[in-house]
Amino acid sequence: MYLQIENLKKFYGQDENKVEVLRGINCGIEKSEICVMLGPSGSGKSTLLNLIGGIETIDEGDIVVGDVDLGKLSNKDLTLYRRNTLGFVFQFYHLVPNLTVKENIESGAYLSKKPISVDELLKTLGLEEHQNKYPNQLSGGMRQRVALIRTLAIKPKILLLDEAFSALDYQTRLMVTEDIYKILKNEGITALM
Ligand code: ADP
Ligand code: MG
Repeated sequence: MYLQIENLKKFYGQDENKVEVLRGINCGIEKSEICVMLGPSGSGKSTLLNLIGGIETIDEGDIVVGDVDLGKLSNKDLTLYRRNTLGFVFQFYHLVPNLTVKENIESGAYLSKKPISVDELLKTLGLEEHQNKYPNQLSGGMRQRVALIRTLAIKPKILLLDEAFSALDYQTRLMVTEDIYKILKNEGITALM
C-alpha cells in the first residue's frame, strides 16, 4: 500500500466536551489508485483529509505515505512533505483576487520541479478562453476548476480533494471528473476525495 492508515484516532475538545471524530480507522490506498470517501456531514471526512494533509495532528495511530511515517516528522519535514508530495484542494478555492486565472495557476506550478503543462490543463478543463480573467469574473464552478488546475499543475504524488467539485453543476461535474481521472491515471497520481 502506498498510503497506509492504522488505528487512526482523532478527538476534539476535552472531558464532557470531547468529540471522538475518528475512532480507530484502518485502510490503505495503492499507488495511482483513486479513492472516493462518502459519508454524511460531520462524519469526519475533512478531519481525515486534514490529518493525511499534515495540517492536523494525529492523536493515536499511524499514517504512512510511501516510507514516511507522518507522526514522526519534524515540523520542517512536514512542511517539505506538504510541498513535495501533496496537493490539497479545498472547497473554497483560495484564489488570489488580483491575479488572473493563468497567474493564479502559475503561482502554484513554479514550486514544482516537474509541473504538468498549464496550457494543456487549461484546455482539458475548458478554461482556455478564460485564462486572462480575474477570479471575480468567474462562476463558482470555474473558480473550483482553477484551484484544481493550480494544484494538479504541481503534479503532486498524492492529491487530496475536499468537496472540490461542490460548486459544479451535475453535467460539468461528470465532465470534469472524467477529465481529471484521465489526468490522474496518466500521471500516476494517487487521489483521495
Ligand atoms: P465532514 O467533513 O465529514 O463533514 P468533519 O471532519 O468536518 O466532517 O467534522 C467531524 C466532526 O468533528 C464534527 O462533529 C465537527 O463538528 C468536529 N470538528 C471538526 N473540526 C473541529 C475542530 N477544529 N474543533 C472541534 N470540533 C471539530
Ligand atoms: Mg468536510
